[in-house]
Amino acid sequence: MKAIEAFYPQLTHPAKVVVTMHQKPDGDAMGSALGLSHFLQALGHSVTVISPTNWAGFLDWMPGTVQLIDFELNREKAKNIIKDAGWIFCLDFNILHRTKNMAQPLADATAIKILIDHHQEPQTEAFDYGVSDVNKSSTCEMVYDFIVGSGHSDKIDLDTATCLYTGVMTDTGSFRFPSTTASVHKMVAHLKELGLQHTIIHEHIYDNFLENRLRFIGHALLNRMDVLYEYNTAVMYIPKQDLQKFDIKTGDTEGLVNYLLTIEGIRLGAIVIDRDEERKWSFRSKGNFDVNTFARLHFEGGGHANAAGGRSSDPLETTYKKFHEVIKQYEQQLQ
Ligand code: 5GP
Ligand code: MN
Repeated sequence: MKAIEAFYPQLTHPAKVVVTMHQKPDGDAMGSALGLSHFLQALGHSVTVISPTNWAGFLDWMPGTVQLIDFELNREKAKNIIKDAGWIFCLDFNILHRTKNMAQPLADATAIKILIDHHQEPQTEAFDYGVSDVNKSSTCEMVYDFIVGSGHSDKIDLDTATCLYTGVMTDTGSFRFPSTTASVHKMVAHLKELGLQHTIIHEHIYDNFLENRLRFIGHALLNRMDVLYEYNTAVMYIPKQDLQKFDIKTGDTEGLVNYLLTIEGIRLGAIVIDRDEERKWSFRSKGNFDVNTFARLHFEGGGHANAAGGRSSDPLETTYKKFHEVIKQYEQQLQ
């Protein structure tokens, strides 16, 4: 993988471009993909954004979602666009399998592949150019750096600003995580100068749910949470029947794991959700307990030091029991 700077000169030659991100895109994946697409369109490129799967309804308001293609719903069309592309930008993931069924079409594509991402251990051989930096707050911040670094910051319009702000905001926990550097605040200051309306973005993302989601959270906190004080850990499990009873949709469970860390002294929060295809784990930590390594070692996952995910093909009870077993070896580290 060559450094992203080596790609800058090509930006002035019009191309057919695909922009994609990880499956079940969150605010950062969606914001970086749509933000980059607005910028590339302003530069005169022909751009298609393809999401590997569906996405949370609370992202539907974002500028550009109307044209967004869901790979699962339009496989043949999407495969042809990928085959035909000159460039493919891969955002907010660094291993092709995080695009699920799109991984093979991406691997087979002859396009120049460009990575912009902030997760650990990138599969660098899969990309021609790229930047991978675990110290960055978000992929949206990195897309902003890409635009500014390439000398085209005059092309940042309000749609681009709105999309990029969304991912920085969601990936920094609204500017509270340690990754929120001075550069992040300088970027936001620049976007504000361009007319960014940040309040409405917070409302779209955080104040836009149905009553059933809040009742579901109440139920989960009351009935599905275990607090393991000896390990400074809180862990939660969500059976399929809960998802059905409260009519829980993609995105409704996002952020639930963060409640666990609001208990005084708790340093590790974990939640497992019984999805159709697998049991999906989310891990969050405070301080130096590295959930990326923890998820890689025990739950086929990864992510960042303080936020990671994983999976299991075991039944819910089995993987929940496994967590309680595995955690015993971390008693010292969690003190
Ligand atoms: P979440 O818990 O929100 O699904 O994921 C937290 C962080 O870990 C995100 O940055 C996400 O991209 C990453 N992540 C989630 N699941 C996986 C996984 O299975 N493998 C890897 N490498 N990263 C993951
Ligand atoms: Mn991200």
